[in-house]
Amino acid sequence: MEEAEKYYNESPDSAGAAFLISKQNDFSGALKIFKTLETNSEPNIAVIRSMLKLCTVRRQHKHAETLWSYLEKYKLEPDEITLDTFVTSATISKNAVLLTKILHLWKTLPKIKPNITGTKLINGFTELNRLDFAFDAFNTLTAPDSITYTSIISAFRKLMKPERAIEVWKVILKQKFKMDKFVFGSLTSACVEAANSDFAKDLFAYIQTNKHFEPPSVCYAQIIKTFLANKMIDNAFDVLQTMKDRRVQVSDNTSVMLITGCADTMSRQKGAAMEMTLTDKQLKDQYIATSLIYMHGKFGYPEKSLQAFERVSNPDIVTWTAAIQAVGMNGLGKEAIKLFSMMQSNGITPNDKTYAVVMSACSHNGLVLEAMDIYSQAKKSSIGGDVHLTCLIDTLGRAGELEKAEKMTTESGSKDIVLWRSLLSACFNQRDITRGIRLGWYILENISHKDSATCVQLSNMYALAGDRSGVDRVRRYMSAKNIEKIPGISFIEINGVTHRFVANDDNHPMRDKIHSKLDEMFDQLRNEGFVHDTSGVTRNLSTQQEKIEHLCRHSEKLALALGLLETPEGADIMINKNVRMCQDCHTATKFISKIVNRTIIVGDANRTHHFKEGRCSCNDYY
Ligand SMILES: [Zn+2]
Ligand SMILES: [Zn+2]
Repeated sequence: MEEAEKYYNESPDSAGAAFLISKQNDFSGALKIFKTLETNSEPNIAVIRSMLKLCTVRRQHKHAETLWSYLEKYKLEPDEITLDTFVTSATISKNAVLLTKILHLWKTLPKIKPNITGTKLINGFTELNRLDFAFDAFNTLTAPDSITYTSIISAFRKLMKPERAIEVWKVILKQKFKMDKFVFGSLTSACVEAANSDFAKDLFAYIQTNKHFEPPSVCYAQIIKTFLANKMIDNAFDVLQTMKDRRVQVSDNTSVMLITGCADTMSRQKGAAMEMTLTDKQLKDQYIATSLIYMHGKFGYPEKSLQAFERVSNPDIVTWTAAIQAVGMNGLGKEAIKLFSMMQSNGITPNDKTYAVVMSACSHNGLVLEAMDIYSQAKKSSIGGDVHLTCLIDTLGRAGELEKAEKMTTESGSKDIVLWRSLLSACFNQRDITRGIRLGWYILENISHKDSATCVQLSNMYALAGDRSGVDRVRRYMSAKNIEKIPGISFIEINGVTHRFVANDDNHPMRDKIHSKLDEMFDQLRNEGFVHDTSGVTRNLSTQQEKIEHLCRHSEKLALALGLLETPEGADIMINKNVRMCQDCHTATKFISKIVNRTIIVGDANRTHHFKEGRCSCNDYY
């Protein structure tokens, strides 16, 4: 060894330097040899490679940047392995500057770029939170492989941009990449995270057109989940059908998801069909049973909820809570309180959700004292939060105790908009317009400047008081603050197909029939003594007739007319609406339920209304 060193110092060259460097223990020794070489001749790539290897073996990655500067200084072009090692070192030492320099050089290299190094670059930039560079590195690859695709999709997911995975999807299609379950799995995960229904449609279409490709069950589930997140129940069931056609196992989790989706979109036929396919074992499964309890509660069948509840041998807090909610929301307040105490006797301590549903049951059923009692019990357990206070305010509001409700809301010091909205609704429902208008402006000034629901409620109250200038004032406020009214949309499921309506909708293929059905129905209604409530119309319509025509084309009325036309006599009708029902629709639906002798269930933004024999389960409080 000493011999070799002596010889090298006498006539230093690259080959000798590379050899000696490989025998060093640390970087400083190597550097000394390198400096000797530099003063006598130009180092070649083998010297750099040997120093880089030393750094890697000795885990002294921080020196990689120095080595890179030598490459630049002597205009040396790294070979594939050297470049790959540089990427590894830069990633380990988290050296963003070096990694960026490598990328710049990499992009100018004319050779075909190996995926393995490309993938390392992507992962390196992901670690450094540089998504743009990661994607840049990905785009330089001529034929990415499965690992590369998975890495870039993970990059988008890790750095919270799952929606951009769709850009990778486009590359995949262009490259005609032969899909595998890993890449597809990361695409469906990104799709769920982005909740992008168009992306889900694309991925589902891919499964349908590529019959040879069989993704795992979880991929189907993620596509279903994406559709459900967008309330696209029909699409979700199309995926389920394909799973069945292809004999793909439907997991219990997926069933739970679909049953809950049916409940949330009021898709009763699909929900019933789902329940029919469940085995005895599944019916007893706690999670499936809980989703059924919830679904039947939403559909207005608390007795079916209780049947599902009874099948569970050891219900936990979630199942109990679902049962309390199901009976409570359907007018069985006392039953809800009974279940609530039974649960506690069974040794289960209520959580905040349980308190919320039992208090909401009190509110739906006018149980003021019980609500106060449970609220103080919750507070004692340090649980009572905004949600519980909101239920209490709702209960007090129904009982007409507005003074107390206002006092409690103000004293709570809460800025929770839902709480304040419920106080405002209470004023509207009790027709305490003066208080309502005062509180409405208070909310806009102090709680939420841009709350669309508060503006709409305020406007309704001015309209109710016949105060046009007040309505205009709200309109001016809304346009000054750029607040838009959320358009009302109603959904109705008929024979497995969901129909969607907005107000004055002219797009439905059956629009002529729907309109004549409505005209016919309202003639009948007026004969029965129904009077349109135009007080809530805040639009600038001059004549009473115009106002009435406008009201008659509200989305839930259109959906209801279609339901009456297309479902058998006597069948229940279910409608789902994204915002609160208006007063006129509420009253009209009560009348219609009596005339046609049907149960009509409308789930709106606030609650589920069960119209039967001319009455509504909410007792006109909503
Ligand atoms: Zn309406
Ligand atoms: Zn109602």
